[in-house]
Amino acid sequence: MDMNMNIINGRVWINGNLEKTCISINNGKISRLTDQENIQEADETIDAKENIVFPGFVDVHAHLRDSEFSYKEDFSSGTKAAAAGGFTTVLDMPNTNPPITNVEELNSRQKLARNNICCNVGFYCSPINANDINELKIANAIGYKIYLHKPFEGQDLSDKNLIKIMKKIRENNGILAIHAENHELFDGIVHTIESEIQAIKRIIDLAKITECKIHFVHVSTKEGLDIIKKNKIDLDVSCEATPHHTILNTNDIESTRYYCEPPLRDKENQESILNSIIKGEIDMMATDHAPHSVQDKKEGKPGFSGLEITVPVMIDLYKRDKITLERIYEILVWNPIRRFGIKNIGRIKEGYNADLVIIDENKEQVINVNKFFSKGKNSPFNGMKLTGSITKTIVNGKIVFDGKDIIHADMGNILQNQVDFQ
Ligand SMILES: [Zn+2]
Repeated sequence: MDMNMNIINGRVWINGNLEKTCISINNGKISRLTDQENIQEADETIDAKENIVFPGFVDVHAHLRDSEFSYKEDFSSGTKAAAAGGFTTVLDMPNTNPPITNVEELNSRQKLARNNICCNVGFYCSPINANDINELKIANAIGYKIYLHKPFEGQDLSDKNLIKIMKKIRENNGILAIHAENHELFDGIVHTIESEIQAIKRIIDLAKITECKIHFVHVSTKEGLDIIKKNKIDLDVSCEATPHHTILNTNDIESTRYYCEPPLRDKENQESILNSIIKGEIDMMATDHAPHSVQDKKEGKPGFSGLEITVPVMIDLYKRDKITLERIYEILVWNPIRRFGIKNIGRIKEGYNADLVIIDENKEQVINVNKFFSKGKNSPFNGMKLTGSITKTIVNGKIVFDGKDIIHADMGNILQNQVDFQ
């Protein structure tokens, strides 16, 4: 069905500025930017009411669960949470049950997601066998993920085997995401700072041998970050930080109730993460959306729901003059897209996908986990008062979230083999 839509009265993010222009959308794509007098006839017109119209946000680190973990989250609830949080594309992590470690599992996961997702989803795989990587690329793995502290059954994470895996990923021009915690250095339930530093050093050494493109997920320590920054000159490495490691520290949060891996750090480490996000030294922000049931949290499962708080938390920082809109665009749209090679999104420009979000940067909200679309009703940001709200999320040319409800639940596509930006 060929649907036309216009968005009028918006302040639209174009080339790093907010410009007054109207957006015409045809058949899921942005067809024209124009003034109101020359606008097309349309089936539907959205009045943006002077709010910000921004490219849809991209989360490179979400756990959408489903399968055996559907009591924690499923594709429908997880992508609804994404859309309500302003995300139009999310990358799904492979530590599901069963885990995604080969082509067969990746195919069946994509099949399960199809028709059940309201935003676009790409899938990671955690390869057991290096020789599967050629085929995994054909099966549209968006990236590869290794949990250094928790290998999957049959997964050999010795240097020798990691080198094999990294070489294959390099050959296929892929990207390897690393959860950098060295499992030999665990200090009971609390994962130490030293375990992150050691793991980052180890992977940097292996990247020097293999030249594999590396992405360090949820960096939480100043020293770990310094090592990554230093090696960016010679190696193809990037990193992300979560909103919780950026904003919260162990002084203000009861860390057992809000347990995550890596855990929240002290003020000094947290402030170094925040400053590096502000300066653009950390490439991107990712939610690490990790929903759990109440019971699972009681039993100490790590993580919490992040999709519905991340953008509002960043807009609130923007409103308090702590970060620019340009940096928010870089860390939550442009760098994720470039790093993972996702084509046709991230710009408000003719020919690009109509994945858009409308933000009322003055509308206050109090984070309330009970209102989450996510099944995981757990967040250390619960009760926090923020300035900034998502009023609409448009995916592939259709309104998915209208500021209150999800009105189209199946607009998402599965990301196909992507282009290389380099
Ligand atoms: Zn995670």
